[in-house]
Amino acid sequence: MESITIVPVGYVLSDVKSPDDMTIAGQRAIVKIRPELVPALHRIEENSHLWILCWFHQARRDRLRIAPLRLNPDLPEYGVFGLRAPARPNPIALTLVGLERVEGEHIYVSGLDAVAGTPVLDIKPYFEQDIIFSPGTPYIRPAKYKMRKEIFFKEAMRHHQEECTWLHLGIKMALIAEEYLGKIQSAETKLKVKGPGCLVDVLQGLTRARFANPPRLSFEENNNDVEVIWMKENKTISIKPQRVFRLAEAREMSDQELFVVHYL
Ligand SMILES: [Zn+2]
Repeated sequence: MESITIVPVGYVLSDVKSPDDMTIAGQRAIVKIRPELVPALHRIEENSHLWILCWFHQARRDRLRIAPLRLNPDLPEYGVFGLRAPARPNPIALTLVGLERVEGEHIYVSGLDAVAGTPVLDIKPYFEQDIIFSPGTPYIRPAKYKMRKEIFFKEAMRHHQEECTWLHLGIKMALIAEEYLGKIQSAETKLKVKGPGCLVDVLQGLTRARFANPPRLSFEENNNDVEVIWMKENKTISIKPQRVFRLAEAREMSDQELFVVHYL
């Protein structure tokens, strides 16, 4: 096969210097593009999100199958084209980031998982039609609770777009349900939500449950008597908040302090 020569459009400025220090949800960073390419940023600020394509120059290129061990030592091997791991023949990384602002040749972004000095190959806008609301995906579950919570927080924020009390309560409910039922995004997981709009919105974002085809989600608006019933196969779990919480309480308190949980 003929080789292709690409000159990067820029590189990443970040406080994170080593891939070992990069969090799963990425970091705030600056994409600094070559000065002569600044005209290519014209009107880019009409987008809230961008795809950033990087060249993960530190990644291994000799592996075709790997197990995502960093997430969970118990996971099986996958072909690298079925994973987002950096290791692959051409280590081109694809990351969806939030666009904060543009100043000259500096693009300020959030959620970028590339370390300082990473070459940037291209920048593209994220469009509504990029969304597949309920995709089929393998169950790649991180072993650590902290990492699972970090991923759910990122997903919930992307969907609900405000950090409210119900966002934190919804994330913690989903983590409890996942512990008992397994993959909450699977077509077999159904939930009945009685509560405020913010809660059902967060839970829909996390579970990808639709109201129809197949009907996985039902909702009754009720701000006083809140309960989420989760069902999968012959397992059912009910989760109710103990009382009304403030945002900081919802974020900091333990599951035992926040919820009454019944396994039915
Ligand atoms: Zn909200």
